[in-house]
Amino acid sequence: MFGLIGHLTSLTHAQSVARDLGYPEYADQGLDFWCAAPPQIVDTIKVTSITGQQIEGRYVESCFLPEMLANRRIKAATRKILNAMAHAQKHGINITALGGFSSIIFENFKLEQFRNVRNITLEFQRFTTGNTHTAYIICQQIEQASVKLGISLSQATIAILGATGDIGSAICRWLTSRTDVQELLLIARDQERLEALQTELGRGQIASFEEALPKADILVCVASLPKGIPIDPEKMKQPSLVIDGGYPKNLGGQIQHPGVSVLNGGIVEHSLDIDWQIMQIVNMDIPARQLFACFAESMLLEFEKIYTNFSWGRNQITVEKMEQIGLLSRKHGFQPLLNFF
Ligand code: NDP
Repeated sequence: MFGLIGHLTSLTHAQSVARDLGYPEYADQGLDFWCAAPPQIVDTIKVTSITGQQIEGRYVESCFLPEMLANRRIKAATRKILNAMAHAQKHGINITALGGFSSIIFENFKLEQFRNVRNITLEFQRFTTGNTHTAYIICQQIEQASVKLGISLSQATIAILGATGDIGSAICRWLTSRTDVQELLLIARDQERLEALQTELGRGQIASFEEALPKADILVCVASLPKGIPIDPEKMKQPSLVIDGGYPKNLGGQIQHPGVSVLNGGIVEHSLDIDWQIMQIVNMDIPARQLFACFAESMLLEFEKIYTNFSWGRNQITVEKMEQIGLLSRKHGFQPLLNFF
């Protein structure tokens, strides 16, 4: 059995979901309530591969909200993730993806030191960040969407917001070794890590977001931002492509501009309907088929009975592992989302 640990994007989102799911007593509650709420299994999932194989999974809602980080409720945030992991393990789930901020919190607050959660000793090999598949899918979106838009990578500048992150650095590695992209612009805050990435890649220019915006043919957003930042499409090249892989989204508001095409980054579409409810809640266009690539990674590992933390730690994702998970992704019927909005 596979598992998905997820969370909602904001307090307002959580309140509206509670109302929609018929929990009006949760809908009026503030952040304190969500800080105290325990994890819950809220969905049972059945997935059929195009090979005909069927698997079953569970969705664990951690009750974490990004406002916990913004309001320095760090203890609550870390407890949410550890408790959700313990909940998944207690229910016998073999491989669980840590969606959205779950793996970021796990890494940033070094939660591997807190292995014992009440009477459960966490077995980390039962968990995966899902970031290898996410990075692979975003690279496929770059390669395939650029062809659709007539952007030739050999003459293109790609800016990566969050370049030094787990997903961002993997994308940079892939673009460097598997494409002929002309220029990479690396954007993040920590200069030392940016310089280390630049040295590792042997290329790329460090840039601020404002510097990169007018230069980029393709802007890939994979920063861990609790709240999106607005961008002015008038400042961007025309045509250009934006791939927003953040959860919550890195971009605040929708870009409505004929010259700027936007893709939901790190999202896959399955070839067959998945029997579940949960993707309606995160507003996927086709909830029965579209999902986060990190969640799909735990499904792929379950299909293949690879019960190990395939994606773990930070900045260890290799292009070989991206190719390996990419092969499995295609084998079982997942494709990168390529519908612009
Ligand atoms: P990491 O924590 O590994 O990396 C985050 C990156 O963002 C770092 O480069 C960090 O560098 C940068 N960053 C953070 N804040 C800012 C800022 N204010 N300005 C510029 N850069 C910033 O995160 P991951 O790679 O694991 O995840 C990245 C995003 O992808 C998250 O939003 C996550 O929720 C999402 N995600 C999506 C998935 C999907 O399936 N679609 C799956 C998993 C994650 P620095 O701190 O130096 O600024």
